[in-house]
Amino acid sequence: MEKQEMLYEGKGKKLFATDDEHIVIAEFKDDLTAFNAEKKGKESGKGELNCQISSALFELLAQHNIATHYIKRLNMRDMLCKKVTIIPIEVVVRNIATGSLTKRLGISEGSILPHTLVEFYYKDDALGDPLINDEHCKILGIIQEQSQLELLKAQARQINEVLKAFFDKKGLRLVDFKLEFGHDNAGNIILADEISPDSCRLWDKQTNQKLDKDRFRENLGSVKVAYEEVLRRILA
Ligand code: UDP
Repeated sequence: MEKQEMLYEGKGKKLFATDDEHIVIAEFKDDLTAFNAEKKGKESGKGELNCQISSALFELLAQHNIATHYIKRLNMRDMLCKKVTIIPIEVVVRNIATGSLTKRLGISEGSILPHTLVEFYYKDDALGDPLINDEHCKILGIIQEQSQLELLKAQARQINEVLKAFFDKKGLRLVDFKLEFGHDNAGNIILADEISPDSCRLWDKQTNQKLDKDRFRENLGSVKVAYEEVLRRILA
């Protein structure tokens, strides 16, 4: 399938139309952003790594009967996907405390949470993606049905179980990650966006070395080397 007009350009990907109105091509960019795009950078080849990592993880989820927008990887940078209407909620799943959770609630960095935490953030750059609850989702008109909110949470937990077990076998701790869901043309809620070291925190099980976008956020260097290591372990 060929790329037609660009439909949308986000921070990490460009979306192109195809000759099928229900199918798009996601092109993974080398750009890196953090802190609501206040910090910007570029890492040559990062897009190719994230495309391959995301594709492998979507294929893993498909093997576990989890519905996603992924159809197939076209080349190193481009992924064929079902077109969805993105639900403006960032669903964050946390196994270990770090990042904004430790800052907001004073939970100590690196502590294992007594149970997996699922949070919703309102996807709105102008507002800085605030934390929201079920009531806010309904008041904002994002999702009205409690059952749909419960479905999002259940899907996020199920995805966490699959990914956590997989990364564990690869010597990686899945600390936390962000998911985005969308409605497909049949109205089903399916997983969309990407699953990559841009949207996950992954720590080496032995050393706790960070192998994700925190290397960029915290100026730790070797961003690409870390992403390459994640891909190498996923494919091993
Ligand atoms: N995350 C993301 N995009 C965002 C915000 C968070 O992909 O806009 C991911 C982030 O990489 C981490 C998880 O969601 O894996 C939780 O992030 P947190 O809320 O701790 O925010 P941060 O500390 O990154 O600002």
